[in-house]
Amino acid sequence: MNKQTIELYRKRLLKMRENILNKAKKLKEDSYNLGTDGIQDMADAASNTYNADILMSISDNDLTILKDIDNSLDKLNKGTYGICEECEEKISEKRLEANPVARYCITCKRQMEEKGL
Ligand SMILES: [Zn+2]
Repeated sequence: MNKQTIELYRKRLLKMRENILNKAKKLKEDSYNLGTDGIQDMADAASNTYNADILMSISDNDLTILKDIDNSLDKLNKGTYGICEECEEKISEKRLEANPVARYCITCKRQMEEKGL
């Protein structure tokens, strides 16, 4: 995978990450706007607790994707992105294009699905 392609995927992954975080942030803001009781004063919320709050409003599904994105970004840095974690063969570009966070090649993925993993 050349440098240009790597940067392309890095951008896509960062964008996906941003979308999830923005969605969570918006959900959080909406819940503040509803003005239900028991919600702490915004001014009291330190920035780090705010981040924890945002993470808590992310759905389990999005959290899984977020982890996959971080995992993929990590692999981009290590130079192992696009390589199947199971058989270490290259994952096809087509598959990566459809799913940039794919961890396994289509063959391994199918085998796992057959085994119910
Ligand atoms: Zn594989």
